[in-house]
Amino acid sequence: MTELCIDFGGSAIKLGVCDDGRVLARSELPVQGTPDDLDRAAAELRRLVGTLAAPTDASLAWGGASVVAIAVPGVVDRQRAALVAAHDKYGYLAGRDLDAWARETFGLPAVVENDARAALLGEARYGVARGAQNAVIAVFGTGIGTAALLDGRLLHGSHDHAGILGGHVTVDLDGPVCNCGNVGCAEAIASTWALERSLAAIERRGAATGPDTADNSKRNGELGAIAAAQHDDWRTPRDRTGRGDGTGAGTRRATLRARIDAGQAVGIADIVETLEHPDSRALLDLYLRAWSAAIVGLCHAYDPDVVIVSGGVMRSAQLILPALTEQVHAHLWSSSFRPPLVVPEHPDSSVVLGLSALAHPTDDAATERPRTR
Ligand SMILES: [Zn+2]
Repeated sequence: MTELCIDFGGSAIKLGVCDDGRVLARSELPVQGTPDDLDRAAAELRRLVGTLAAPTDASLAWGGASVVAIAVPGVVDRQRAALVAAHDKYGYLAGRDLDAWARETFGLPAVVENDARAALLGEARYGVARGAQNAVIAVFGTGIGTAALLDGRLLHGSHDHAGILGGHVTVDLDGPVCNCGNVGCAEAIASTWALERSLAAIERRGAATGPDTADNSKRNGELGAIAAAQHDDWRTPRDRTGRGDGTGAGTRRATLRARIDAGQAVGIADIVETLEHPDSRALLDLYLRAWSAAIVGLCHAYDPDVVIVSGGVMRSAQLILPALTEQVHAHLWSSSFRPPLVVPEHPDSSVVLGLSALAHPTDDAATERPRTR
């Protein structure tokens, strides 16, 4: 039994034909942000099914798949198989009955899940946290996605909001207003969408405290400086998403502010690439403190055996992870277990693997497949 998997991700729509954690065929499409994305995803899945080696499988309708498993970046109403609140680029998905779409398009039912929950399930079933019964995930990128696995079950709650709003806990009472309406959320301070505002706040603070000096450790960013010192090879190659830069060595060394002023779409990776500049170190320091506060909150709430941290910036995990782990362990409740922070081996596959797992519930109820109509 195979499943058709669609991950509506931040920078790409990832597609896979899977069988219980084995990816038989995969590809990805750029996000256009229009309803055509659904038709393009269906056409690409049809092409993928056609590439399968076993002709008997390919000759069956949709390669013999039994379900369409879909991950979306937001709050999911699993009973309605719909995204409740959508990001800009996926606004057209809000309220759309994806089960009805899957039945019309493929003749198959759909299971729909929040992308962070799917990633957590994928890593707990097949990946870096394989076998874990209690785990949490934090995905740092455009926003902060979180999820919790408790006693082997993905946490959903009465209204499907449980566990996934870990980026929207207040970490600064005097912080900026978040897109969600709350104040000082970790995501409002330390995400890609918050980057320019957080950098501007650091620049204002720098202007108020005068020129950067060796004593001015606050502005330098203590954690950011530690992280930079932990690994002198921090100028990692531009990640495969090709976000930002890519314009040559001259620009590669430009400060974060220069990149923004040049009209580049900067992301968290740009902070890591510009650590020679004190503002970037201060910004990384701010991000690490906000992320660790969010992770501490998840640990206090869910008591996990392992914390999975993911997102494109974790391609620089050798730089980020030691400082993040140190911060989290330093601030946990005294008797709390100090869970290891781990990074998926193949972060780009976490969600698709989780979608495959959703279609293959285990006897020990590692997941609870939602009712389909
Ligand atoms: Zn928020």
